[in-house]
Amino acid sequence: MAMSEYPELVVSSLGSGSNGNAFLVEFGDQRLLIDAGVPIRTLLACLQRRSLSPADLTAVLISHEHTDHVRALAQLLGRTRLPVIASRGTHAGMLNVPHRDRHVLPALEQTSIGDVNVTAIPVAHDAREPTGFFIETPTASVTIMSDVGEISDVNADFAAQADHLIVESNYDEGLLRSGPYPAYLKRRIRSADGHLSNDDCASFLRATIGDKTGEIWLCHISENNNSPQLAVEATAQALKSDGIVRDVTALPRYDGTVLTWRSTEKRTPIQQSSLPF
Ligand SMILES: [Zn+2]
Ligand SMILES: [Zn+2]
Repeated sequence: MAMSEYPELVVSSLGSGSNGNAFLVEFGDQRLLIDAGVPIRTLLACLQRRSLSPADLTAVLISHEHTDHVRALAQLLGRTRLPVIASRGTHAGMLNVPHRDRHVLPALEQTSIGDVNVTAIPVAHDAREPTGFFIETPTASVTIMSDVGEISDVNADFAAQADHLIVESNYDEGLLRSGPYPAYLKRRIRSADGHLSNDDCASFLRATIGDKTGEIWLCHISENNNSPQLAVEATAQALKSDGIVRDVTALPRYDGTVLTWRSTEKRTPIQQSSLPF
């Protein structure tokens, strides 16, 4: 089959942040919901924006069992029977989701769902067995890496392979330090099992992105310890200092906004040249 006969890869953010996260990855008839952490009404409204209902979904992938990633899962499964795909530890941690069609996604092994290949990427975070996802189709690929305290070499490898890259930029160091959170919570957020700061994210992207990387989405931006502007500035400036230009977008919270990336509209990355012409 020629490349052009394949459908486009469409990635949508249905909400992102410390209070609720969900992505939709569509490739023709295959529609994967990645996390179900936004309220069920928001989730249904966002699907509706894509002219979809829960019955149109192929499966739900869960990155880890924290509430902001599973809030609507039980309600969603009450509406339609869907396979739930996650690491063994994440399944064990989802205590509020008793009846489900469980599929275990072993770490770093490719699993095919139709023409979509999914690989779970282990990440450092304070959950049972948290993962990011590398999702590859014949058309394009996306890496989703949210809730990660510290980036590993394996994380970086998968990030570099993706056409579309979604990475956490959780907090601004200064705002966290001076903010209202108690000391133990600040420590938890900053720890190697916590979340990525704007500066962590920026230096990670600067070291990692390659020719393949198109647009970058910054996800899981804290409402109390960050702002979309600060997150984008940190990454854009770090990239710029290396002469790298990419579209960097801060993902909206769950206010019903659906932000969509399409492989057919992938812009050719601009590599600023330092050569004198
Ligand atoms: Zn988490
Ligand atoms: Zn989270």
